[in-house]
Amino acid sequence: MNRRDLLKLGTLATAVTATSVFAASGTKEDIKSVQNAVKPLNNNDRVIIIGGGYAGLTVAKNIRLYNQKAEVIVIEAKNIFASCPYSNLWFGGVKGVDYNDLIFSPLKPASTYDYDIINDKVVSINREKKVVTTLNGSFEYSLLVLSTGIEYDYSTFGLDEKEAKKAFTKFPASYNGGFEQLSLKEKIEKFKSGTFVITVPKGSYRCPPAPYERAAVIADYFKSKKLNAKVVIIDPREKPTTKAKGFLKAFDTLYKDYLEYIPNANIKKIDLDKKTIYFEKNNLKEMETTNETLVFDDANIIPSNKASKLLKDSGLELTSDGFGRVKTPTFRSYNDDNIYLVGDVVGEYPFPKSAQMAHSCGIIVGEQIARRLNKEDPKEGSVYPQNVCYSLVSQDTGIYVTHQAYFDKADGKVKVKTEFFEDIEKSTFDATKSWYAGITANIFE
Ligand SMILES: Cc1cc2nc3c(=O)[nH]c(=O)nc-3n(C[C@H](O)[C@H](O)[C@H](O)COP(=O)(O)OP(=O)(O)OC[C@H]3O[C@@H](n4cnc5c(N)ncnc54)[C@H](O)[C@@H]3O)c2cc1C
Repeated sequence: MNRRDLLKLGTLATAVTATSVFAASGTKEDIKSVQNAVKPLNNNDRVIIIGGGYAGLTVAKNIRLYNQKAEVIVIEAKNIFASCPYSNLWFGGVKGVDYNDLIFSPLKPASTYDYDIINDKVVSINREKKVVTTLNGSFEYSLLVLSTGIEYDYSTFGLDEKEAKKAFTKFPASYNGGFEQLSLKEKIEKFKSGTFVITVPKGSYRCPPAPYERAAVIADYFKSKKLNAKVVIIDPREKPTTKAKGFLKAFDTLYKDYLEYIPNANIKKIDLDKKTIYFEKNNLKEMETTNETLVFDDANIIPSNKASKLLKDSGLELTSDGFGRVKTPTFRSYNDDNIYLVGDVVGEYPFPKSAQMAHSCGIIVGEQIARRLNKEDPKEGSVYPQNVCYSLVSQDTGIYVTHQAYFDKADGKVKVKTEFFEDIEKSTFDATKSWYAGITANIFE
């Protein structure tokens, strides 16, 4: 065991000890005194990465590829990495896909690439003092990376805080990895007949094709079991957010009796006890709006998405849709040069919120941070990320889309060139498996 491995154990042990103090006495003073024990910089740069998801772990590895000196610490609230990509395949019962396929341990790459990972939750950022505070302690930083993914916002479905908790518990979104996924899988497997609703979030959200892909594979599962059951997708948009042609074709041709797509449906309220959705249906042809209700037997309520509260609380600029604003064409916060934003938390650029995009941006940002620490030109704005996003429309066929980001000199904006591949093909299913194996190997091996 080398010095850094010992240090890793040391930091984990500190976290455990502090948790015990917290649990044993639990007074605010106790918590404060633990949190006030700031771990100072020791004549070295320290990069703190908040969030060890697809973006954060990629940044950690890529800093290390170009800089071996700085201390790199990932702080992650969950104690397991459970992937959202590939989860729809598991929900839909795709042959050969197991829950284990979604689970990874970041300790292996932490050891290979020599970064520290701490299982803790960041509760505040003091930008003036350059200190982050977790439930168990505080850390000074030289540079900070926020890769905190998404939080749910149920208010756009007319649910108050208490109702939001109930919706989360009874009808989990499963738009984050972990126990929500286990509950959704159980719901699908236990469903015997009736209406299973999936709500598409309002506004900008993680993985635009995911609700439609999920609907298609669940419908396929119901069909394969010959259930008297139907998936109903309720969408505020006129058509699916992405790959609309391919999804609508699949819905029409493959799942006529098993799937119903309701577009232009603006959810105003959900009665969680009566299992009823109240929505406004915009009939664009007749230019009229009608008030409708939909009663369901079970549901996967996917609410709107927003950035972590940490951003707002620490005074970082947000975009109008509630995500992090960055300084074009960089990944630095609009109002703090020492803070980088990577992954789904970013609102400025028209990038789809995907693991592939988070990974591609993480590679770029990791190198930029390393170059900055090395006192070299970070070459910001010289490379732009790419994305490919596969969606299954049945147990073994799919469609896909690619994105290439670029800087448009004419108006100084970062834009995205999109290409759709919407013929329903078996080869896309094979490509999905290869893509997933590739990205997870890159991050976890
Ligand atoms: C059903 C579904 C299917 C998908 N399929 C695909 C796909 O096929 N291809 C694709 O490219 N993308 C897909 N995605 C999208 C992909 O999951 C996300 O875009 C990706 O996870 C974004 O990475 P991230 O690092 O920004 O966020 P995350 O991976 O969510 O990581 C954020 C991490 O930050 C941690 N965190 C948050 N706040 C704190 C805090 N205060 N302290 C400590 N830790 C904190 C969280 O616990 C979390 O682990 C899918 C998403 C869903 C929901």
